[in-house]
Amino acid sequence: MSSIAGELYIVATPIGNLQDMTYRAVEVLQQVDLILVEDTRNAIKLLQHYGIRQPMKAFHEHNERQLAEGIVQKIRQGSNIALISDAGTPLMSDPGFRLVRAAQKAGIQPLTVPGACAAIAALSIAGLPTDRFSFEGFLPAKTAAREQRLQGLKDLSSTLVFYEARHRIIPFLRSMQSVLGGARNVVVARELTKKFESVYHGDLQSVVERIAEDEQAQKGEYVVMVEGVNARDQTVDLDSVLRPLLHEMSVSKASKLAATLTGVSKNKCYQRALELDK
Ligand code: SAM
Repeated sequence: MSSIAGELYIVATPIGNLQDMTYRAVEVLQQVDLILVEDTRNAIKLLQHYGIRQPMKAFHEHNERQLAEGIVQKIRQGSNIALISDAGTPLMSDPGFRLVRAAQKAGIQPLTVPGACAAIAALSIAGLPTDRFSFEGFLPAKTAAREQRLQGLKDLSSTLVFYEARHRIIPFLRSMQSVLGGARNVVVARELTKKFESVYHGDLQSVVERIAEDEQAQKGEYVVMVEGVNARDQTVDLDSVLRPLLHEMSVSKASKLAATLTGVSKNKCYQRALELDK
């Protein structure tokens, strides 16, 4: 028996504020035959809010492998199925990768219904370079493993983006401080789109201190973003710092002082000072 295959929709849902659901996401979820959800209790709140009454099935990291083939079979037989996660975009530190792979292998290309994603939302307000960033998701819970991963990231020049849960935010930031150094520029975005949304920015040491001192700041969900090693070189207007210094002192002294003031490497400051001094 041949039949026309259905569709697999990967649907983004809000990261805290129910109003951040897209019209298309509501429309798709109202029309599919089955909605795969990470946690049925969480999903019910969202689905009821939008009057969505389609059948649901629990689909999470513990049963994804086991269910993926069967779901793909259903789609091949004509069912339209949507995948949502507890918050934001499925597959972004959430289940769905095996399902998408299995669907592609069976000749079904999933369709995206885009929307909120905590990492992208956080980057959009962080004031850090976004032309290149590396999404690192959750780091290991154990200190040694976490710090080993950070060692491997510490020389990257792109902005680094991490997810972290409330009970690990302080140990996580302390690991960062010990591996990346306290001077690194960091932005911590907490509870985005929710009542207690807050953004902490500055050097790593001062941000860790502020969050460690404030119990309120240790509640919620976090995106932690760290400026890459050379990113500062690209954003600082080095000439405007060097020019007045060169009026007062030698190239060597001016470049050392500019390096201290801006965080740009001594060598780069020296080369530029030589050019300006000509
Ligand atoms: N799939 C989601 C997405 O698209 O962002 C992420 C799911 S992951 C299991 C959950 C983590 O995302 C949280 O621990 C936190 O790091 C981050 N997160 C989710 N919602 C957030 C929010 N409203 N504010 C800040 N971080 C959030």
